[in-house]
Amino acid sequence: MSSQPHIVLPWVVRRTRLPLLSLRCVGCPSESATTGEGRFRVNANGKLLDVWLLVRCVSCDRTSKLTVHERVPVRSLDPAELHGYRVNDPELVASRLLDPLLARRNRFTLDWTGAWRLDTPAAPLDGAWPVQVEVVFEDPVPVRPDRLIAQGLGLSRNEVLRRIKCDTPLRRTTSSGFAFVVMAGD
Ligand SMILES: [Zn+2]
Repeated sequence: MSSQPHIVLPWVVRRTRLPLLSLRCVGCPSESATTGEGRFRVNANGKLLDVWLLVRCVSCDRTSKLTVHERVPVRSLDPAELHGYRVNDPELVASRLLDPLLARRNRFTLDWTGAWRLDTPAAPLDGAWPVQVEVVFEDPVPVRPDRLIAQGLGLSRNEVLRRIKCDTPLRRTTSSGFAFVVMAGD
């Protein structure tokens, strides 16, 4: 039997909604916030602009402002982008929220619990091993490869360690695409 995988399966990790934010509320003990439907606030001061993304505490509803742009010249912004801020364009809300720069600047992390799914093709895993799987991330969901593979193949974590050859460390959280090969069981 050839050791070259003869089947390549695509797996896709994608979000099902926007993740929550792990962000300490100043008004209550909660550490969870949401963008809700997604709203920006734009404030013009002469030729300078401030843009914030508004989020609210999931517990007490208090609103916080996350700095997107601070005192930037109006002309430095792409007019389409500025329009997106003014009309609360949902795609712009998502791309700003998922931008690691925003998280670093405003000191929050994203809470992806329950906000994503793994799509796998209904594949004929009929014992014709090995099988290669390529995992693509449509959204930057942090996953541990060993857990994702166990979930996707319905294997135990031990079986994953035994049967998987992966091009990235199995236990290191990643949001970048990777590939692995499933070897025969016994
Ligand atoms: Zn609160």
